[in-house]
Order: sequence, then C-alpha cells, then structure tokens
Amino acid sequence: MTADQSPDRSISITNNRIVRFLFTSKRVQHAVNLVTVAVFFYAIYRAAVGPTDPSRNFGSVAFFGFWWAPIMILSLLFFGRIWCYFCPLGAIVRFTQRFGLRRHFPMYTQSKRTVFGLQLSILSLTAVTFILARWGMADLGVSYSPGRVPYYWLAIVGVAVAVSLVYQRQAFCRYVCPATGVMSVTAKFSPLEVAQNRETGVTCATLEYKSDYLSTDRRCTACMKCTSQQPDEDVELRFRWPGAKAVTERIPLVDEAIIALVIWGSIPINFVLGSAILTALSGRFPSLLVSTTAYLASVIAALVAFAAANKLASAWSGVDWEPSFTKFGLSYAPLGLMWALGDFVIAGLLENGGHTVNVLAQGLGIPLSLPAGASPSVVSAWVSVFVTGWLWLAVLWSGAIAWQVATVLTDSKRRALKAFAPHFALMTTSTFGLVVGVVTGVSYPIA
Ligand code: SF4
Ligand code: SF4
Repeated sequence: MTADQSPDRSISITNNRIVRFLFTSKRVQHAVNLVTVAVFFYAIYRAAVGPTDPSRNFGSVAFFGFWWAPIMILSLLFFGRIWCYFCPLGAIVRFTQRFGLRRHFPMYTQSKRTVFGLQLSILSLTAVTFILARWGMADLGVSYSPGRVPYYWLAIVGVAVAVSLVYQRQAFCRYVCPATGVMSVTAKFSPLEVAQNRETGVTCATLEYKSDYLSTDRRCTACMKCTSQQPDEDVELRFRWPGAKAVTERIPLVDEAIIALVIWGSIPINFVLGSAILTALSGRFPSLLVSTTAYLASVIAALVAFAAANKLASAWSGVDWEPSFTKFGLSYAPLGLMWALGDFVIAGLLENGGHTVNVLAQGLGIPLSLPAGASPSVVSAWVSVFVTGWLWLAVLWSGAIAWQVATVLTDSKRRALKAFAPHFALMTTSTFGLVVGVVTGVSYPIA
C-alpha cells in the first residue's frame, strides 16, 4: 500500500500543535536521545557495580525486567517500529556515521542467493543476529548475570559503531540490529501504525525501498528526517486489522517469513522442546553446549516442521513453493508473539511488576515500596488462562491469517483448503504439544 492509499480509520495526530512540534522538531528527538543514551550507559554502569543478584541489580532489571519486557514487546506489538524513535543505539549510529567512510553496505537485494528454492537477501542477516542476541541473553546467562551485561551491550555498541564508521545510511539499523528484522515482522501485526499520509519528497535517510515518508510499518528507523524537513505534512495514527498487512504486503520477502519462524522456534518451541532437551542432556555434557544445542534444535525444528507442512501444502494445492513459504511463514508470527505477550509481559508483570518498579525507582534515588506482584492464586489463574485460552487464541489468529493467505494464493475454495490444511494442522498440533509441555511441568510460562 502506498502512502496515498491510507485507510479510512485514521486520525491526524499532528493537528495538535504540541504533537506536531514533537514529531517535526529534530531538537526534540535529540533531547529525547540524549536522555535515552544517558540512561543506557547508566544502566550498563549500574549492572557492572551493583549487586550480583539480578533481581536487585538496577542494570539487569532496567534491561530485562523493564526494557525488553514489557516496554519493547508492548511497543512492538501495538505501535510497530516506534521504538526506533527512542533507541539509544539508533542515536549512536546516526551520530557515528557522520565521521565514517560512508560506503554502500553490500546489498544482495538485486542478486539474491537461492537456498532450498528460496531467494534470500541480506535481510536474512537480521535473523542470524536475533538468534545470536537471544542466545547471549539466555544461554550465556546475560539476563541473569549482571556482571555479563556490560560485555553484552558494549559488544553490540562496538558492532554498531564499527558498521557505522564504514557504511552509510544507518546500515546497522537496516541489516545488522538484532531487533530490526523482528520489528519488520511484528509491525505487520500491530493494530496501530504511525505514518505520514503522503510522500514528502524528502529522500529517505536509509533509502530503503525508496521510501520517503515516515511509517512505523516498514523498515523506517524513525530518524524523523522526512518529518522535520516537511513539517507541514500530516502524521496519522492509523487503525487496521492486526496481521492484515501480512496478507496484503506489496513486497513480500522470504527473509521476513524466516524471521517469523525463528521467533516461533526461539520462544515458544524453545521453552518446551528446548527445556525437554535440556532435561535429557544435562549433566552429560558442558551446560553451555547443552543449552545451545537445545536452543538451536528448537529453531531448526520449527523451520523443518514448517518446511514439511509447506511442501505438502504446495504440492497438494499447486501453489508455488516460494510464495507459499513467504506468505504462510508470516502467518506463524502470532504463535510466537502471543507467547511473548502472555509469558514475558503479562506473567512477568503479575509475578514481579511491583518489584521491578521498586528497583528502578530506588536506583534513581526514589524510595518506593510497592507489593512485589500479584498473589500466587492470581498468577496461577493466569497460567490456567494461558494454556486453556491464550495459546488457542494465538492459533485462531494465525489460522485466520493463514486462511486469508490461502484464499489470496489460490483461485478456488477447494485449492485454498488444500493449501491451508497442512499449516493449520501444524499450528494446532504444535500448540497442543506446548500446552502438554506446560501442564506436565516440562516448562513454565513465567518470564
Ligand atoms: S533498527 Fe535497531 S538500532 Fe536502529 S533504531 Fe531501531 S532498534 Fe535501534
Ligand atoms: S522514512 Fe523518514 S523517518 Fe523513516 S527512515 Fe526514512 S527519512 Fe527517516
């Protein structure tokens, strides 16, 4: 959809003078970024010098109890790529690249590599960086060892600075940032989009897909160059069916389908299949080797299971392998997103929300003593809802998108059913396996 084809359900938020000022002034973003960069480095410092207990360490709590979940996940799920506006790394990238060599990032989008009949582009690199980032958080123990937090973040800052000193146009943000590919997928499932309602004529700072207007729906990094250079163009808040964009995407990319499947494999599948592998192998091999094997096995299992279902769907319905892979792959994203929301965000807040706020406030010198979290009976009631309703809601959401994809890719109900059935069968059986895993204690849906 082009900017001119904006949907009806939208409001121009820049009609308000204060909002217009916030969205169109570069100084405002600079001020916001000064604060976020300062908090970022302060949290790294406090992680290094604070208590070794991660639940009492300001840095650990700020990064993993507050920023990653709930802030990052909620902003991704409800507002697409809006986080990029605030991101300290994005600010560091924009600042650093001024002094760099300004070379073009090696682009494979024109000469794509074909792997298993799928044309991959450089965007798939972000699936790898996401896998590595999550491996660091979970398997290298960064999220529960405050002493490792500075190494983790300073390594990412080092890569961001190095890439920006060589390549131009926020290359780190477009192709390397562990969050960027995930955001390009989750943005298609958010019910709200912040976007300009027509092209500004300003050349986009990233030149991504020749876009020249702000949109939290695409690979825009919210640098605000287009809004600040054309302050009279409206910025809208648009409402749409969550996931409709996965069906109507004008330039569908195999890479984004792979990222959606990696999210599914590395979050829910890893929590149950990975936990089962951990239990079976622990004690026999070094723990890092076991946890890494469990994690990679979960991601590979998700990709292989999907490929098998897609092969069957493609052969049965006559839909070509690659378009089928690309469109149906995206439809699996809600299975991972709903798990992240229900487990990391809702369960996490119920268990530790008050404690998280207390640690953050105390770390900033504000004495606060809220109750640590909800009562055990409330947490346990949520776990019941999670397995009996929440995960099945995710299947319904994914299934509805898959059905829409099937009808778009085929010319009859009969062929659509043949394309849809193997995928829906995989969604339901895998979710049944997750529910059994949670109920039997293989894993626990608590962040
Ligand atoms: S793409 Fe990544 S590094 Fe760049 S602004 Fe967005 S979140 Fe930050
Ligand atoms: S579309 Fe506008 S805000 Fe987005 S990256 Fe390009 S210039 Fe920056």
